[in-house]
Amino acid sequence: MAQERWTVLKVLKWTTEHFQEKGMENPRLEAEVLLAHLLGVDRVGLYLNYDKPLKEEERKAYREMIQRRTAREPVAYILGYKEFWSLRFKVGPECLIPRPETEHLVEETLRLAAQEHLSLPLRILEIGTGCGAMAVALAKELKEAHIVATDISPHALSLAKENAQAHGVGERIKFVQGDLFPPGEAPFCLIISNPPYIITEDLFQLAPEVKDYEPLDALDGGGNGLRFFREIAQGSSGYLIKGGWLLLEMGEGQAPKVTNILEEVGFTHIELVPDYAGVKRVIRTQRE
Ligand code: GLN
Repeated sequence: MAQERWTVLKVLKWTTEHFQEKGMENPRLEAEVLLAHLLGVDRVGLYLNYDKPLKEEERKAYREMIQRRTAREPVAYILGYKEFWSLRFKVGPECLIPRPETEHLVEETLRLAAQEHLSLPLRILEIGTGCGAMAVALAKELKEAHIVATDISPHALSLAKENAQAHGVGERIKFVQGDLFPPGEAPFCLIISNPPYIITEDLFQLAPEVKDYEPLDALDGGGNGLRFFREIAQGSSGYLIKGGWLLLEMGEGQAPKVTNILEEVGFTHIELVPDYAGVKRVIRTQRE
């Protein structure tokens, strides 16, 4: 009998079942995404090569990917990148993986950036940029914008710089390492942030992909999850022009509390923007 051949199709079927047994949510999709990456093709490329046998070293490398994934390492860390705003960002355990919901924050920022009263040059501050996804997306869309992006993590910032360079906007984003606001950089027309907003105690209930692999500093919003909203709200007035906007991403159910925090420090024109799941995800407010 001929020796069993591990073709693309057969390997995919085996891996899908294996992922299923391990309780993974998207077994076939993830099996395909990982194998396509390994073979340097897209998913259609896999379908066209169903009958092709894998080389021994390809099987070995794929086995390693499968082991990492069944240990619940996020797909994005295994691949080394994540798409955001249709751009590819290098990611690693030093940064949070950009989430699709955060694209709403980019969308709202672009909407406001088009308002004529925001005098040029359009200066935008991003607080807690992580891998730089939002800052880079905005720099690509707004050719006139001057962007300053901060992060407390020097490791995240070096990834962000790499991403900015890879997308050709390295010259137009100033990266500043530090806690929240960059001294001496005021004023800005727009301040945006997706701060850590998970209640400390809830961190342990998150999916293993998140709690065991992503940087908890980028998720931990303190005992009530609101710590950074308060600090950013308090600091923002001093960094915004009159009529400038502050935009923040929030977690489910946080809108009323974040609204209060903003009102307490004197912000007006508070508006909430839902994500595709109907969760009030973005809050935007204007400095009088
Ligand atoms: N949306 C992220 C999550 O649910 C949290 C991001 C954050 O804390 N800013 O994992």
